[in-house]
Amino acid sequence: MTHDDIATQAAADFQAQFGRPADGVWSAPGRVNLIGEHTDYNEGFVLPFAIDRRTWAAVGLRDDNTARVTSTFSDDEAEVELATVGPDSLDGWSAYPLGIAWALGQNGVDLAEQRGFDAHISSDVPVGAGLSSSAAIEGAIVLALDERWQLGLDRPTLARVGQLAENEAVGAPTGIMDQSASLLGRRDSAVFLDCRSLRSEIVDLGFADAGLAIVIIDTKVSHSHATGGYAARRASCEAGAAALGVESLRDVGVADLDRAREVMDDETFRRVRHVVTENARVLATVRALRESGPLAIGEILDASHVSMRDDFEISVPQLDLAVVEAREAGAIGARMTGGGFGGAAIALTPIELVDQVTVRVSDAFERAGFTAPEIFTVTPSDGAKREF
Ligand code: ADP
Ligand code: MG
Repeated sequence: MTHDDIATQAAADFQAQFGRPADGVWSAPGRVNLIGEHTDYNEGFVLPFAIDRRTWAAVGLRDDNTARVTSTFSDDEAEVELATVGPDSLDGWSAYPLGIAWALGQNGVDLAEQRGFDAHISSDVPVGAGLSSSAAIEGAIVLALDERWQLGLDRPTLARVGQLAENEAVGAPTGIMDQSASLLGRRDSAVFLDCRSLRSEIVDLGFADAGLAIVIIDTKVSHSHATGGYAARRASCEAGAAALGVESLRDVGVADLDRAREVMDDETFRRVRHVVTENARVLATVRALRESGPLAIGEILDASHVSMRDDFEISVPQLDLAVVEAREAGAIGARMTGGGFGGAAIALTPIELVDQVTVRVSDAFERAGFTAPEIFTVTPSDGAKREF
């Protein structure tokens, strides 16, 4: 189905389920992080882009205070009263869309006074692959509610609402990157985000003009069991910052690493070194893109992967194999992307070598006895928008 078809189908499904037409259909994309991993919660830099995989929400306001959500993803429906909705009353997938309503309430919206809504969701973002299906569902719903409730919030604020929903209603302690990419993304471009000031700039990627494609290798290793590892990495970063007497690792430069080695244990030091060098790599990537174009960023992507594999220790054998084989098959740079412990790798690949990369990585997975990966290309795309 084309994206237009999915949007039209979402409206038809809404009509079938709720017995009336939707007010409109809103959509938001998943994202790929080009570089800058585990830097967001350290108040550092990230460089994600929105992809051409989206989540659509057909939404219609109601005359009462009830919110109901359905999804092609699940048979479970959820229904709450907005006046009493709270993190404790939400669970399962509906915590994402209904958590958005609650988070808007935390941002000054009087939920008891708002009209309720029905929403039906469909998506072609792979779930749990590290492409942020969660930010896509949040982005589509928050944009729809902002518009239908006539809130007039700007997109950086909508991103913070999405993060609050994910942190408190879902209970996932993630940073602001995913929601920012989904809401601020632009065609052929990345979102260069300073996670301390929350200022963002659009950076031209120019992949197509340079004859390059981004290949996603979804290892099918689900990262959903990784909550413990993620929390442990966050704790290490906090311990490293405390040992150095700084508020966050954003305040630590590459030149400070010698001193850092003296004041913390080796494991904490390696966690710190990843974050500090990764911040430097994001800045180097932005500079290279602006001065020389995307052919100049391959080595930086490679270095990022090595740092995550050896210093931050969040890779898995499937991701390492995907990266090595993609490079051997002609990718100019490759790295795991997302929070780690599974999910996807990205390979920046000359367009004419995409098939070669696909075949070589698939064969290597088969030889290693790994589950077959899903391999596809993505295009940097526009962020959240109203479809009709
Ligand atoms: P990722 O964001 O990497 O895909 P997460 O674990 O952060 O993985 O988010 C995935 C969860 O988001 C799903 O388990 C589900 O609860 C929710 N979700 C994502 N897409 C949809 C959808 N189309 N319909 C309903 N829930 C969804
Ligand atoms: Mg997510």
